[in-house]
Amino acid sequence: METTDTVKRTSNGKSTVINAMLRDRVLPSGIGHTTNCFLSVEGTDEDKAYLKTEGSEEEKSIKTVNQLAHALHMDESLDAGCLVRVFWPKTKCALLRDDLVLVDSPGTDVTTQLDSWIDKFCLDADVFVLVANSESTLMNTEKQFFHKVNERLSKPNIFILNNRWDASANEPEYMEDVRKQHTDRCVNFLVEELKVVDRDQAPSHIFFISAKEVLNSRMQRAQGMPETGGALAEGFQERLKEFQSFERRFEECISQSAVKTKFEQHTIRAKQITEKVKTIMDAINIEAAEKRVAALEDREYQMDRLEFVKNQLNLLIEEIKKRIKAISDDVESKVSIAMGEEINRLHVIVDEFHADFHPSPQVLKIYKSDLLAHVEHGMGKNLAFRCSNAINASVQSSQEYMMESMVPLLPSTAQSQIHMLVPNRTFDLSYDLNCAAICSDFQENIEFQFSLGWKALVHRYLGSVNAQKALRLVDPNFQNSRSVVPVAQTPSSGPPSIAAPPSNETALMTQEDLMIAMATNLASLTSRTSMSVIVVGGVMWKTIGWRIIALSVSLYGLLYLYERLTWTTKAKERALKRQFVEFASEKLQLIVSFTSASCSHQVQQEMATTFARLCQQVDQTEKDLEANICTLTTNIDQLETVQSCSKTLRHKATELEVQLEEFTKQYLEPQQ
Ligand code: GDP
Repeated sequence: METTDTVKRTSNGKSTVINAMLRDRVLPSGIGHTTNCFLSVEGTDEDKAYLKTEGSEEEKSIKTVNQLAHALHMDESLDAGCLVRVFWPKTKCALLRDDLVLVDSPGTDVTTQLDSWIDKFCLDADVFVLVANSESTLMNTEKQFFHKVNERLSKPNIFILNNRWDASANEPEYMEDVRKQHTDRCVNFLVEELKVVDRDQAPSHIFFISAKEVLNSRMQRAQGMPETGGALAEGFQERLKEFQSFERRFEECISQSAVKTKFEQHTIRAKQITEKVKTIMDAINIEAAEKRVAALEDREYQMDRLEFVKNQLNLLIEEIKKRIKAISDDVESKVSIAMGEEINRLHVIVDEFHADFHPSPQVLKIYKSDLLAHVEHGMGKNLAFRCSNAINASVQSSQEYMMESMVPLLPSTAQSQIHMLVPNRTFDLSYDLNCAAICSDFQENIEFQFSLGWKALVHRYLGSVNAQKALRLVDPNFQNSRSVVPVAQTPSSGPPSIAAPPSNETALMTQEDLMIAMATNLASLTSRTSMSVIVVGGVMWKTIGWRIIALSVSLYGLLYLYERLTWTTKAKERALKRQFVEFASEKLQLIVSFTSASCSHQVQQEMATTFARLCQQVDQTEKDLEANICTLTTNIDQLETVQSCSKTLRHKATELEVQLEEFTKQYLEPQQ
């Protein structure tokens, strides 16, 4: 009885259902599981069927179902809840080809170890099939198993097969009621108790079948006999159709979960990746946009600055040019005035000169050369004293002004170094009088000349020029020793060092000309004291006579003697100095404009050099700005490319996401 009980309780036809699905008697049926083992059936590529027990790799071959039943029955080593794996050739059964594993639960009451067994065998299951006996109601033990499964898995796929429905054919009058009763209970179980499906979907999970009939008909067909052969209860075709529709649903679920198993994780990962890609692309886009805006602003600023620097520089160039011109003109006039004053007091410098003097040509040569050096030095010093400070101050202030004007055009880094560009020294103006060259033809006349000698008198009464002409007429050998007084020249008549050429007119001078000149000069004698003496002398000649003459002669002689005696070396030196002052003054007068122009040029040169250096720096700044603008333009272009790429990639990620979503909806989400 106990066996019967067990059969009654557990032998709802699970093995028969599996066999019907496999279209062969793979699992033993009818005898009930006498062991507590789980039985699994899976496909093998081998031709023969075999089984493996848990903990052993040994392949035990099975020739017949009875042999399997016997093996299970006899194997005492099998523990309760262990798994016996039956490998069935895939060639024999199409259902097993796609890695399907069917698991048959033990036939005995398994409530005691239910939890651990569910953990062990059921958590990976895609579909659960409750094989119920339509001749009785659902039992609590059966329900309990599914409650436990439902606790561990979220919304498991559950089908309820009300087996042995062929038995209902015996009582057709109750069939509909019974079917309704079973359906209601099953729907309640699925919807109310387990909450795995909606009420409207629940009936599609419930089938009324006869596994035995399906198996038999399929076996017969396999053996080439008509499937309807033999005595079949009424309504077989409906039950067969219902079994087939169960199989379709079952296969749908299996393939759906196969797809899910294969692609769900990938899809989830892909969604995560697309999400991440979107986030990254957004971040890149925002960052690139910010950088681009910053670069655009920066470029705008640099362009404005370049424009400003260019305009400002042009204005400054004009202004500074004018300034340099003004300062140069100022220097020219300052030097010119100073030189004029210095020439007027040249005698002071010459008087300050002390050196050994002797009329001998060698000593004289050295003396003159030293005198020239002294004049050059002294005058240079005096000019520097008069002009340099003022000029320096003016140059410096102009340079300061240039720097101050340029500073705003330079970058801040260069601003602090601008002082290094301007020489930190006082500008050394060179006057470069070159006295030695301009006075090279100075010829002194330090021979004794009696002041009442006839030559001197001729000079005195005829003037220098006429005296020379006259003397040359009288004495053709008379040398022009008067080069101390050069023939008058206009300042612009040639280089200052060129001596006046001897006049050719002298040769053409006639005696008449001379007489006219003498007469003219003599005519003027009336106003002169010496003439008075002669007139007085003539008057006195008559009255006083020869005594006076004798006295005059002796006075003349005494005077001559006096002059002769006082014509010492010192006097000669003085004469030379006087002659030199006269000569140099005239020569220097000629180079005033030249020297002042040279000084002005030096100042101009100095300022232009400084300004050029500053301009060079500004040019460099302009070049730097242009290079910066160029780099920024490249950066902006690159950032634009980055932005458009990031947008494209984000768009692609969104497209992929949509596709993944569609795929998920179509293949991965449970279709009720
Ligand atoms: P299990 O213990 O749940 O695996 O049940 P079995 O498959 O071994 O079946 C037990 C008995 O019920 C066997 O004798 C089967 O022939 C019989 N059986 C199974 N399915 C049906 C069915 O649909 N109709 C009838 N009348 N008997 C069935």
